[in-house]
Amino acid sequence: MKAFLKFSLIFMLGSCASSMNDNLNSTLWMQTAAEYQASTMQTYNTALANVSRALNDKSWTAALEQTGEVSELPPAIILDVDETVLDNSAYEAKMIKEHGTFTPQSWDNWVHLQKAGAVPGAVDFINKVQEMGVTAILLTNRACEKRQNSNAPCPQEDDTIENLKKAGIKNVSAETVLLKNEKDDWTSEKKSRRTFLAQKYRIIMLFGDDLGDFLADVKKNITPQQRAALVEQYAQNWGTKWFVLPNPTYGSWYNVLQAPREQYLQDY
Ligand SMILES: [Mg+2]
Repeated sequence: MKAFLKFSLIFMLGSCASSMNDNLNSTLWMQTAAEYQASTMQTYNTALANVSRALNDKSWTAALEQTGEVSELPPAIILDVDETVLDNSAYEAKMIKEHGTFTPQSWDNWVHLQKAGAVPGAVDFINKVQEMGVTAILLTNRACEKRQNSNAPCPQEDDTIENLKKAGIKNVSAETVLLKNEKDDWTSEKKSRRTFLAQKYRIIMLFGDDLGDFLADVKKNITPQQRAALVEQYAQNWGTKWFVLPNPTYGSWYNVLQAPREQYLQDY
């Protein structure tokens, strides 16, 4: 009986700890694993090695939204911001320590601090491709919202630009940073912004930590199996035109899972 009680207690504590600190392992991985650092550097190094090929082939485009004649358009790359260029693991770490969860207010406070670090490899890569004549567009789902004690139309844009500069990106401005809600149809579905950019630029590469940074309609009302089939369908794009950064802490991969999440575990 005593043993049974002890076992039950350990089991309860174990399950309680795992639900409270769901992000502990994934945040530790991003903050301490050399393997994370190596994988993001590998991604950006691979991309850099492909830039000349993409520039020389005037029919090369990475955006599915881009159609028609593209050879005369100036080249650009599109990068997501969070967990692609900027590292917000400190925000995750704070939530874990304080047993909190994501709230729009605490996130906006974090954005306003402008203290996000850089994802390893991102800053060097962006500065180098800009020297090669490529425009780097930052396309983020950070949202333009009113903020207390600020008259700026989009204080989040100002903070994001400052944070990107602090991280070491030399050439960044409101022209090249596109936030959610900056225009009416600029929703969290990034397709409309990619379509907008495809009118002005030949988009040679896409970078992101979420499937939605590459494809439309993949963030809700879709199963993990359907998402996997899309990755397979565009197999040729990964590592040539599309570059994905690892993010185990949050994202549409997680949001599409239905409760109970254990149903997705595949054992032998
Ligand atoms: Mg992101």
